[in-house]
Amino acid sequence: MKQTMKLPIKTEKTIKQLFPDSEAVFAKAAAVMLLKADRCICDVPVNTYYTRIPHTYQYKCGRCRLVVSPLAITPLSRAHKNLTDTLELVCRLHFIKKELSPVEIAALYKCKYETAKRKSNRAIQWMKLALIHSGKTFPNENIKDTKVIRAFSAQHNSLNAAVDSLFNALPSLKDAMKNNSKNQ
Ligand SMILES: [Zn+2]
Repeated sequence: MKQTMKLPIKTEKTIKQLFPDSEAVFAKAAAVMLLKADRCICDVPVNTYYTRIPHTYQYKCGRCRLVVSPLAITPLSRAHKNLTDTLELVCRLHFIKKELSPVEIAALYKCKYETAKRKSNRAIQWMKLALIHSGKTFPNENIKDTKVIRAFSAQHNSLNAAVDSLFNALPSLKDAMKNNSKNQ
């Protein structure tokens, strides 16, 4: 493996300590999104009425029975089995300050080329979301991945700062509630 793709041991350890598994990533994301929403669309407070549906990444309102999937409205959508990979990839790109090709990502995470491409997209989308949340504007949608990575790296001088800004940028769970009530 090329030296430039490697994360320092200390950084790798910190990520593993903060997020040992996908559940830890989900818990952190859901906590931020629930807090931002504050209330269900039926107006009860989410912190007392929302319960996790066992063995899923979903919550249900105890009053109106609305079911919401927080991840569905985030760059982590459809990444349920490997939320840690996406987060780790963002931290890796943040650290090396450049793009990795799908071939390199496939080698790192021992996955297929197509899966690697999706991982890469999710990581870039998440960085972009964090940048936009912090007030950074992009002239157009087709901004190059390298530019997103460089801007994200320039804005965060530590791993913890990068992780904080990624989670803080996640939308309010209210957006998921609205989506779901439309579909019902
Ligand atoms: Zn409700």
